[in-house]
Amino acid sequence: MELNPNKFSEHAVIAIEDIQLQTALDRGTSNADGRRRIAFAELDDPYGLRQQGRGAKLRALADLPDLLEQMERSVTASGGHVLWASDAAEARQHVLDICRKKGLTRGVKSKSMATEEIELLPTLIANGIKMVETDLGEYIVQVNESHPSHIVMPVMHMTKEQVRDLFMDKLGMPPTNEAADMTAFARKLLREEFLNADFGMSGGNFMIAETGTVVIVTNEGNGRLSTGMPPVHIAVVGIEKIVPTWEDFATLVQLLPRSGTGQRMTVYVNAFGGPARTNEPDGPEEFYLILLDNGRSDIYATEYTEALACIRCGACLNTCPVYNAVGGHSYGSVYSGPIGAVITPLLKGKENAVPLPFASSLCGACKQACPVDINIPDMLLKLRHDLEGEQDAIWQIGLKAWQFGNQHPLLFEVGGKAASAATRALAGLMGSDHIEALPPPLNGWTDYRDFPTFAPESFREWYRKNRGTDA
Ligand code: SF4
Repeated sequence: MELNPNKFSEHAVIAIEDIQLQTALDRGTSNADGRRRIAFAELDDPYGLRQQGRGAKLRALADLPDLLEQMERSVTASGGHVLWASDAAEARQHVLDICRKKGLTRGVKSKSMATEEIELLPTLIANGIKMVETDLGEYIVQVNESHPSHIVMPVMHMTKEQVRDLFMDKLGMPPTNEAADMTAFARKLLREEFLNADFGMSGGNFMIAETGTVVIVTNEGNGRLSTGMPPVHIAVVGIEKIVPTWEDFATLVQLLPRSGTGQRMTVYVNAFGGPARTNEPDGPEEFYLILLDNGRSDIYATEYTEALACIRCGACLNTCPVYNAVGGHSYGSVYSGPIGAVITPLLKGKENAVPLPFASSLCGACKQACPVDINIPDMLLKLRHDLEGEQDAIWQIGLKAWQFGNQHPLLFEVGGKAASAATRALAGLMGSDHIEALPPPLNGWTDYRDFPTFAPESFREWYRKNRGTDA
């Protein structure tokens, strides 16, 4: 599927009719959302912890420039190299330059949304560098030559049966229906890659400025192998991932696993900040940290700054009725769901992601689920306002007509009566109490649901009759 946020509607229509996708989404999102609720219910003060986490992220954002410089000093003091990337092209070039300088040709990578965002893999392949994804979900996506559809669970869009068929078809896996067998099969192949890699790559869930440490939280152990085994380690991390202290990290690391996978803590928490020291038997000989901006500083200090507080837990995706119905690929972006609908237009340019802020019922479930209480519905509304001139002509004419009608009470009343009479007459012609099909361009509604008739009596009329005064 082509990654194009402006094709959201076309992709959503296909996704809704895809039975296997719907099965996968039902299972995946309800399991994850259910586990999150249980994990938070056992806390004494879940709201207090969320506010503490929000405070930690907002304080970090307020000091962002200073903290990043502190991070650079700390990593450099530990013998690592820090490179700044203002955009995706510069980040990719840094990786290529390191590979060329060191003669690196075989890499392994742990899960990283930042490297997805900069579309690193196609660049590496085009330059003759092999890179293998080692997170099981990302590995499946790579074998399938597809894209992740969820921030935390990259193959949320696939059923176990589809993964089985893929592995049998592309990798020659012996027939099995057991997920454990499929995992063991992939693990065996990946072991070889770890052993033969001359460099490893990762993202970072957090950066801790006071000690210059990058932390990743994982469940599969591949993160530790990717960052610790090969002689060179390159981490690409978005600049917004920084927090000042370990104390702030201690708050946030209680929130991320609970929100993402419903765990109190992930199986592995890896911390690194430079090459192996002389008394350390394990770890890379060289460590590079690429600090990725790629549009983040354009969001900084705008009315959307709060979007940078996101810790990429995926909870808002799992609870969102729109994501649940259409899946991640429909958004046409690495970042999907409610937070994707906010940050994709901000990172890619609003005109390049016009439908996304409208892909929400504004029910508020995302804000309630968010461990750092980001006001996503509010930002979606602001983006809709910013995008007023970008909507298609029919939509704009409809909104203008609605606005005009609302400003002229008599016209509104007459229009309401006309709509009531017309819709009931049309339903009567169809021999029904509702309208099953409307002509273009209104068929966008009736293609998927019935159109109810307007009430015979408006609220204003009812109020006048029952209260003796105007509403
Ligand atoms: S916006 Fe909140 S809920 Fe959504 S991914 Fe980010 S931190 Fe998680």
